Amino acid sequence: MTHAPSESPDLGLQTRLLHAGKAPTYAGGHAVNPPLVRASTVLFDSVVAQRAMRERRGDERLFTYGARGTPTTFALEDAVTELEGGFRTRLFPTGLAAVGMTLLAYLKPGDQVLMSDSVYEPVRKLAHSFLEPYGIGCSFFRADGSDVAQRITAATRMVYVECPGSLVYEMCDLPQLAAIAHAHGALLAADNTWGSGCQYRPLALGADISIMAATKYLSGHSDVMMGTVCTTRAAWQPLAERSDAFGMTVSPDDAWLVLRGMRTLSARLQMHERHALQLAQWLQSQPEVVNVFNPALPAHPGHALWQRDCAGTNGLVSFELQADVPLAAAERLVDSLSLFGIGASWGGYESLAVMVDMTKARSVTDWSGRGPIVRLHVGLEDPADLLADLERGFAVLKHR
Ligand SMILES: *Cc1c(COP(=O)(O)O)cnc(C)c1O
Repeated sequence: MTHAPSESPDLGLQTRLLHAGKAPTYAGGHAVNPPLVRASTVLFDSVVAQRAMRERRGDERLFTYGARGTPTTFALEDAVTELEGGFRTRLFPTGLAAVGMTLLAYLKPGDQVLMSDSVYEPVRKLAHSFLEPYGIGCSFFRADGSDVAQRITAATRMVYVECPGSLVYEMCDLPQLAAIAHAHGALLAADNTWGSGCQYRPLALGADISIMAATKYLSGHSDVMMGTVCTTRAAWQPLAERSDAFGMTVSPDDAWLVLRGMRTLSARLQMHERHALQLAQWLQSQPEVVNVFNPALPAHPGHALWQRDCAGTNGLVSFELQADVPLAAAERLVDSLSLFGIGASWGGYESLAVMVDMTKARSVTDWSGRGPIVRLHVGLEDPADLLADLERGFAVLKHR
């Protein structure tokens, strides 16, 4: 456009109202944070300019249409790429959508994916309800990765791991799994929600693809859903093409919130870690508790790998009660807590407690006959208050 319509007094008020204030200029400095840009239509100066942009956007990240991203979502992609140490990042409406798109981007009927027994439960459901009927074979390997070399076949196109694993945080040797996968021409994809880039960096350890539920620690405030996938340069193209083909995008408002959350990610994680370890130590000293799960604890089976590969831990601590503690008593314990909310997800600033059913969450390892398991997400509250709350909760067990 070569003229500014709002400055043309011969245009009707209705028209001038649509154009007024479109390119405001301000005297002074600039804001700390990037602007929030919402867009569906993106305008170009000429037909030639529009055509040129459309021709280049397959390889380059260009602002050409809302579904292809906005300056706000690009800013978040850049921050995630920095965090993950990868080539580029795509954003998805949820963490689960990010996992689903990753599987669809690299696998086709006839292929096989080897999945860790420790995956986030809805991923197991996705494997059985969609991938298998769609002709993609799925089999599960031990959460510590020790049987991947035996299970991998010529049809395996992807090894999909979650490390540390959901609920009890099993560790696997990621560089070793990368070597096995690559020797068979398969990709290694890792769900990095637990480590969130600060505590664990799968791409640096040999993975090709790293996925995070930004819903958790990146957003950090329990008020937004999002998923991210960051890859190496070599693995990038299929993800980018499939995501565009499926029209995958996120709201710039949500992207702006996640970007804001990420500014304090490292500081929050350090506090979650400190509080979680304090509570974990207290839990270890309770006679009713037989296991406390967090890989930073020396008693955890994955502790040596955690020490080698992780920069720290987070607010997640699960504990297993003695096998003779009835489930109902464990549920009363959780119900009696006042500072721990009862709800799904984690990674916000607040503490949570949920009952865990490991017999449903694992198929390769047998968890039957064990005591009730509770997962805590330890928040940023004063840990002395959280400990007092847990003490009250455990009193319920003593009076059963
Ligand atoms: C929560 C979670 C997801 C899914 O994230 P949503 O945004 O809730 O869909 C994926 N992987 C792991 C490990 C998670 O904890």
